[in-house]
Amino acid sequence: MNWLAPITRHLIAPAWAAWERSPYLRHHRRLLRTQFDPPETIRQRQWHEIESLLDHAYRTTRFWRGRLADAGLEPGRIRSFDDFRAVPLLTKADLRERAGEMLSDLYRNEKESLHKKRTSGSTGVSVEVLVDEAAQQFKRACVLRSDEWSGWRLGERVAAIWGNPQVRTDWKGRLRRLLLDRDYVHLDTLKMDEAAIGAFADALVRTPPSLLFGHAHSLHLFAVYLKTKRPNVAIRPRGIISAAMVLHDWERRLIEAVFQCPVTNRYGCEEVSLIACECERHDGLHVNADGIYLEVLRPDGTPCPPGEPGMIVVTDLVNRAMPMIRYQVGDMGVLSDRQCPCGRGLPLLERIEGRVADYVVTPRGELISGISLTENFAVMVPGIAQLQIVQEEVDRFVFRIVKGSDFGPKSLETIGVLVKERFGPEVRYECEYVDRIPQEPSGKYRFCISKVEKVQCSFSRD
Ligand SMILES: [Zn+2]
Repeated sequence: MNWLAPITRHLIAPAWAAWERSPYLRHHRRLLRTQFDPPETIRQRQWHEIESLLDHAYRTTRFWRGRLADAGLEPGRIRSFDDFRAVPLLTKADLRERAGEMLSDLYRNEKESLHKKRTSGSTGVSVEVLVDEAAQQFKRACVLRSDEWSGWRLGERVAAIWGNPQVRTDWKGRLRRLLLDRDYVHLDTLKMDEAAIGAFADALVRTPPSLLFGHAHSLHLFAVYLKTKRPNVAIRPRGIISAAMVLHDWERRLIEAVFQCPVTNRYGCEEVSLIACECERHDGLHVNADGIYLEVLRPDGTPCPPGEPGMIVVTDLVNRAMPMIRYQVGDMGVLSDRQCPCGRGLPLLERIEGRVADYVVTPRGELISGISLTENFAVMVPGIAQLQIVQEEVDRFVFRIVKGSDFGPKSLETIGVLVKERFGPEVRYECEYVDRIPQEPSGKYRFCISKVEKVQCSFSRD
């Protein structure tokens, strides 16, 4: 390992933190201890944070004062996690339309210095969340803890494959990258042609990274490139972190085979940062319970039991500038009731299942994975070359069909039978015939799109 790593870890990072007046290394030391607390202790700590957050949100934001009062949930009315479920869910539409009212009065005067987290808008909606400095430094510590679960240590070199990387090129930024962050090389996922991938591979051979960090799919593309074009090149990081996208098993297998290193799967979002991450056991994702409280819900707003896929809802326990309470992230996940053999008391997610918009909700309130639905129809219905299922309303579907040569009356009859069987007799549908399935603006194909709002959480007014 490179000679600078221990110097950065033990000298430069603490000195830099002192100069920045950042407590993140102190937070980090505490987080390393408390992650082994029993689950019940961690839950109690979360409850304490939720109470204080609700009180703060009610007292200092117009948005939450109105919303909690409308639901009959003035301070003191919420005394348990069960009560907490009566708080109406926060949506992206709320963030888009009422962000001004969500900013806490205590931070109004320092609005310009707050950290701005803007989502890319891959779901068609771009939203901005403001995060205060104290929360930002705490989140930094949470991320550092989970980064180290990959096998990498603070101070060691990092190579990243990321879309539009924000690389600072002023002298301070350069110095910071050289001495502290150690992220010496980037591959921009928006310019991943063969020349760029080749140059990135060369850089990693010359100066081997300890951590390879990137989007699941981009890490996979890089692994495919090495396997097919540069089979003799050996790049052997100590850790690989896959973030920002669902990591498929087949992608993980290939990445691990090429780099001979386990992949650490991570889940988070711009609005609240880290949500969950695998530990060194790679058997489920530990929820970042110090930073967020996570729920997995059915379409009727009730909690999913462990093992059942549902919608992920998070409460940011640290950001006081813009309280994010019961925020619908837009992804699906599965909770676990297992204890991880690593001994950490942080709760486990079995897996992340992708976007809510890729799921269909039936009039009976069941959720069906769009990917398996499309596969199922395409296999059962004769003569379909390609298919896209669009749920326009809860009881209305459009099937966009690219016809194969044997498409005919039998195909239409089968569709009718399948619709009744899968969605119920009351569901209407129409077939549209197209030459090809259109791509999303991002270039991705989506084979199932549901335009139906998934959670109708009941307001409690008692
Ligand atoms: Zn674990």
